[in-house]
Amino acid sequence: MDIRKLVIVGSGPAAYTAAIYAARANLEPLLFEGFLSGPSGGQLMTTTDVENYPGFPEGILGPELMGYFRAQAERFGTALVTEDVESVSLSKHPFLVKASSMEVRTQALIVATGATAKRLDIAGTRDGEFWQKGVSACAVCDGAAPIFRGQPLFVIGGGDSAVEESLFLTKYSDTVFLVHRRDQLRASKIMAERAMHHPKIKILWNSVIEKVSGDTLVRSVLLKDLQTGKTQERKAGGVFFAIGHQPNTSFLQGQLKANEVGYLWVRPGSTHTSREGVFAAGDVQDATYRQAVVAAGTGCMAALDAERFLSELGVE
Ligand code: NAP
Repeated sequence: MDIRKLVIVGSGPAAYTAAIYAARANLEPLLFEGFLSGPSGGQLMTTTDVENYPGFPEGILGPELMGYFRAQAERFGTALVTEDVESVSLSKHPFLVKASSMEVRTQALIVATGATAKRLDIAGTRDGEFWQKGVSACAVCDGAAPIFRGQPLFVIGGGDSAVEESLFLTKYSDTVFLVHRRDQLRASKIMAERAMHHPKIKILWNSVIEKVSGDTLVRSVLLKDLQTGKTQERKAGGVFFAIGHQPNTSFLQGQLKANEVGYLWVRPGSTHTSREGVFAAGDVQDATYRQAVVAAGTGCMAALDAERFLSELGVE
């Protein structure tokens, strides 16, 4: 079986940056960029304008930026495989990586599989119901769609994401309801103040959405007040989940140490995971910053950490 020096799993800013650095260091990286797991390029593929990535003073579209990342990784000789990694075996070195149609062994592994927005199992929001027909888990990606314009919109959550997404949606709708299960926002004080004082945002405290209904698109939601138990139907054009993210680690089957919500543990100030020779970069190990530029930075760190590990191992 083919033994590689370095396999990278993922296709966001962390994975491609790791590939650029590793390829330039002659580590001949093999990068699994995924297939069914989502679009190659990660979360920025579902974003429109990226205005905070340094180097683009006029901003750049997310997919365009990721196209540049990918092209740069390819230019220096990264082997790109458009397949999902289904499992890895880290108990024996070189590690075994099993993808949909191939298996390889590798001396070093970089995990950069990112995180996915969480959804709730509410009636009407599932795949085949109104998911992507008015129900979304990313207001910033989908909010500009014509179906949401001028409609009452509902955002579920109480953290910074929920506030940020509600504020974003006020560009397209005059009535944005923030539906939160408690009577206090988890969002930072400054963000919470913005939501509470915004003329187009109304916070529905102690509330949940029990059902989403419509015809071909979302038309209404059934709201429940958790304190009184009363329900009421309200007109709606869109429902957005903003309840946090889940790191994409299921293919690791618990072989690496993670925190209580599943983000991979790394030795502070490095990308070393709990298994020697395995490195983690990007959102899969970052619950705090979750920014493309930070992911790219940790991708670079992972490539440098892997390079040092391989040179200590005597792998040229
Ligand atoms: P978060 O802080 O974990 O907040 C998740 C929110 O969703 C909480 O209010 C939580 O309610 C609610 N929630 C979770 N599970 C739920 C359920 N089953 N039903 C109903 N509600 C549920 O996640 P986040 O807002 O995505 O933020 C993650 C991190 O990124 C934070 O550190 C945040 O500060 C940061 N961030 C920063 C910015 C910014 O500064 N511009 C923007 C976005 C994110 P409870 O409060 O009741 O637990």
